[in-house]
Amino acid sequence: MNDYRQRFFIQDSPVRGDVVRLTDSFATVTAQKDYPKSLQELLGQMLVSASLLISTLKIDGKLSIQLQSADPNAPFRFAMAECDHTGAVRALAGFSNHSDDERAIWQNTKTANDAFTLLDKGVLFISIHPEFGESYQGIVERVSDDLAECLAHYQKQSAQISTLIKLACNDTTAGGILVQLLPQTDEDKENDPDLWDRLTTLTATIKADELTDLPADEILYRLYHEENVALPDITPLHFACTCSPEKSEGAIVQLGHDEALQVLDAHGGVLTLDCGFCGKEYRFDKASVDSLFI
Ligand SMILES: [Zn+2]
Repeated sequence: MNDYRQRFFIQDSPVRGDVVRLTDSFATVTAQKDYPKSLQELLGQMLVSASLLISTLKIDGKLSIQLQSADPNAPFRFAMAECDHTGAVRALAGFSNHSDDERAIWQNTKTANDAFTLLDKGVLFISIHPEFGESYQGIVERVSDDLAECLAHYQKQSAQISTLIKLACNDTTAGGILVQLLPQTDEDKENDPDLWDRLTTLTATIKADELTDLPADEILYRLYHEENVALPDITPLHFACTCSPEKSEGAIVQLGHDEALQVLDAHGGVLTLDCGFCGKEYRFDKASVDSLFI
């Protein structure tokens, strides 16, 4: 299995975490567009982050991480990645590299962190959409040029839970680890006073190529072989898209009848909506467009 999340516990301690690796779903995401390398890596990191963070929630629903530029004409406009409780992931970014200026910007944007800072005036936020109940959105403070550090800081601020996140992405695989210290009892603290310091020091030694190249159990063994680690069954992750004919019809209704007919005329009588996430095409002729406005 190429795409999965491995939960782990340090036995008899309030420490838990997850390791995520994505290969097949990452390939599906990156096949949709000719992404600049740095942006592709950032998208991989965001996919892994969404898959790690939803595991910290006890909800049925979807968690998405979004990065949004304030400037609709910026070379990097937005990026978003999401994961739901069934393990379905998808991601998409909006960018432009048509002009010489834009191409030069992307050429100088080498790493995921560079792409992240390219949007330093943009907003980073996490949205949680439970199947039942209110959706919630939180703004993530940009405390660093590293997505993982910003998200860990957010976890600490919003949930009061000490969190360490490491993310990595190469051309084919995105991977990451999240470790959390859940609330400790006085007994926990007495039994093992330097537990969190020890685990964060160990976790910080993980290298990017280990997160992308090694299976989760080997990563965890390398990091914590002197600890007593419990590994429940892995959770499979997979690419899936929630686009549908109904949503495309909704988008055309939003556009308005006159506008939709203009687009139709300009494209030889066919209005095509492409899903940016999965590449699926939804095609409408005049009769089907008209039928939406009766
Ligand atoms: Zn789709």
